[in-house]
Amino acid sequence: MKYFDHAASTPPHPEVIRTIAEVMQAHYGNPSSLHASGESGFKLLHRAREVCAQALGVEPSEIVFTSGATESNNMAIKGAALQYRTRGKHLITSMVEHPSVYESFRQLEGLGFEVTFVPVQTDGTVDIEAVMQAVRKDTVLVSIMHVNNETGSIQPVAEIGRELKQKHPRVLFHVDGVQGFGKVPLQIKDSGIDLYSLSAHKIRGPKGAGLLYVRKGVQLFPLLSGGGQEGGVRSGTENVPALVGMAKALRLAKEKEGENIRGWRNVRQRLVEGMASLPELVLNSPADGAPHILHFSYPGMKPEVVLHCLEEDGLEVSTKSACSSKTSEPSRVLLAMGKSMEVAQSGIRISLGDEHTAEDADLLIEALTKAVKRLSGLKGGLK
Ligand code: PLP
Repeated sequence: MKYFDHAASTPPHPEVIRTIAEVMQAHYGNPSSLHASGESGFKLLHRAREVCAQALGVEPSEIVFTSGATESNNMAIKGAALQYRTRGKHLITSMVEHPSVYESFRQLEGLGFEVTFVPVQTDGTVDIEAVMQAVRKDTVLVSIMHVNNETGSIQPVAEIGRELKQKHPRVLFHVDGVQGFGKVPLQIKDSGIDLYSLSAHKIRGPKGAGLLYVRKGVQLFPLLSGGGQEGGVRSGTENVPALVGMAKALRLAKEKEGENIRGWRNVRQRLVEGMASLPELVLNSPADGAPHILHFSYPGMKPEVVLHCLEEDGLEVSTKSACSSKTSEPSRVLLAMGKSMEVAQSGIRISLGDEHTAEDADLLIEALTKAVKRLSGLKGGLK
């Protein structure tokens, strides 16, 4: 089976698997315990924090370990909104965020906060000026993702962050960096970013591990109370093996960033060229989108039927994103980009990993062409 769903999750790197197994076997002590077994877990965690900080270009004390980016996003958004609620109750985000961001803001609306959902342009990006114009005296937080998980559209987060800090230094800026890390270079420290979320399993690390960068001086209302781990902001015994595995994955992703990006660009370009021979196909990803994601629609065809046809040929792709692929709702992201309902209901995402080659792209195009030919005859019945 050839796997083309790396934006949903990636195969853990063999070195990551080895590291996790070693830590599970030899370092099972609770890192908060005072004896030698606890101390060895604590040291590993300390080292993992240093490695993660180095990969992000930040200080180890600015890293909070979490169970993944859903938690990091919730922690950043709700934690900041609740902590700074006496400053103001206005929050800003975009209409194309991941559900862990979007739904956090919806929940805060229910608690009396006011949220501006900034619209996007036809390429899926927000207009920097539209974000700036949305800022008010009582705005406490702006949250914009780096790379969209459905289309790969790249948001101008560095420009937004810098302008925001220049014009409104007290407004916090959160970036969901999950689909951008290792794929689209970003200097966190130079970009006015106060909070930055990451997930290990999107970069060949384990599931259930993530982090939140919290710039020194920023306080968050703790969503999890308990033993006061992670500087008191995230109580709960740390998942030492997974976090050590995440540190390894982050380092490997950073080391191979340039090589990976070049490889993805070539494969993606080959796919785009191949898709040109399928006239009814609508490409939803912008030409200058992230190198590892290509999203398209085949209006009139049920995407899950196309997906299963491809699967019969040994190729795994995705409909929408993993979090929403089991619902029949049209894509909120595509609708926000001004796509028709038919296009928004028939989206398919291909996302690349570092193992993919130009031959894989050819295989995919061949299988897609075959599937489309086979299904066109049935088109009316498939709607
Ligand atoms: N943010 C984005 C952009 C994502 O793509 C995902 C995962 O699909 C998440 C957040 C959530 O990450 P996790 O699976 O670690 O909770």
